[in-house]
Amino acid sequence: MKFCRVRTADGIVPAAVAADGTLRSLAGHIADLSSHSIAYGGLAPLDGLVLSDLPEVTDRDYAPILSDIRRIFCIGLNYSDHAAEAGMALPDFPILFMKVCPATGANDPIILPKGSEKTDWEVELGVVIGARAQHVSVETALNHVAGYCVINDVSERAFQIERGGQWVKGKSCDSFGPVGPWLVSADEVPDPQALDMFLDVNGERRQTGNTSTMVFSVAEIISHLSEYITLEPGDVISTGTPPGVGMGMKPQQFLRAGDTVRLGVSGLGEQTQAVRAWET
Ligand code: ZN
Repeated sequence: MKFCRVRTADGIVPAAVAADGTLRSLAGHIADLSSHSIAYGGLAPLDGLVLSDLPEVTDRDYAPILSDIRRIFCIGLNYSDHAAEAGMALPDFPILFMKVCPATGANDPIILPKGSEKTDWEVELGVVIGARAQHVSVETALNHVAGYCVINDVSERAFQIERGGQWVKGKSCDSFGPVGPWLVSADEVPDPQALDMFLDVNGERRQTGNTSTMVFSVAEIISHLSEYITLEPGDVISTGTPPGVGMGMKPQQFLRAGDTVRLGVSGLGEQTQAVRAWET
């Protein structure tokens, strides 16, 4: 099932995408989509529901896919073709960093941070944990996945790279965490290593990739992280970006106010973000 949360005049409504593409309200069956509802049988009230029988939701203002995303783990340099573009050696282990800004809706604007000149884009496959994972094997790792989503790992390269310390500074500015539009349940994504992905800026293709060129697979990433950190339901992992980021262009190119970013992953939906200037 493709789940989402939609902002309406009556507040945020949990919904699902019906076969005809319409959104159908799950209100009255589940309270919301949250870390709790995607784990521990929280979606059981939906068993047997016929989506086309449910009330249609006509709004398309997507909220983040869960009400309480607390942690977004990110993996760097995880595409062999992107590492080549960045001129960097392939890592021996998954490169882990954190994105600690609140998740935002798929189509919420990107606000350029105060003083930013190097805000960049990164289309990524997002993984949503649905069951606690601690010291899990590669073979069983995907059993801990609730579903998948699109993420734009928006990044400020000067903050990330030129000012010392950890990457987290350049990854966590307000509005840098679009997650969605949908949480696509794992049963609808039989092979997470065979998904096409793209990103356009102002209608021009910037990124083209496929999750088949990941250095570390989704299962390997989950297994590796779970050696160090117990992954909990609702945790999100952004699994790295394919080639075509602005930092890798010659000359480099970054986002400016007025730009439009559109990105997607096959089967997981698309995001569109307007880029806006910082306002005090
Ligand atoms: Zn990234």
